[in-house]
Amino acid sequence: MTDRIPLDHLTSDQLDELYARMERAESTVAGVVANATDWATRAPADDWGDTPHDTVMGDVGRFLLKLVELTTKHSRALQAEAAIARVHDLHCRNEHSGTCEHCSEHDYPDYSVPWPCPTIRALNGEAE
Ligand SMILES: [Zn+2]
Repeated sequence: MTDRIPLDHLTSDQLDELYARMERAESTVAGVVANATDWATRAPADDWGDTPHDTVMGDVGRFLLKLVELTTKHSRALQAEAAIARVHDLHCRNEHSGTCEHCSEHDYPDYSVPWPCPTIRALNGEAE
């Protein structure tokens, strides 16, 4: 059992609170990323010293830099996935003609492109 509220039972106030919590969390992460990026710019990794304190701070710094790197990669991956989904939606199969709706939309039936069209085949990693 979890304390999660089923979607059908979620009130408008509870939804507002969830959005507020999400915005606070995003703001906190953005602040950490900005601080880590600024710190890395001002103190390159090879200048972090070798005292125990420096070692711990170096570990924290490397962790934050890794967090920045992963956050950036994750954000880019999400953007790429969304772009690929939009292309798939655009180049969908027409159920009646079996053609790509986008590639065939202007000149059908004089110019029809069978589905999957070259764009979809390229996204799927298939050779021309
Ligand atoms: Zn197409």
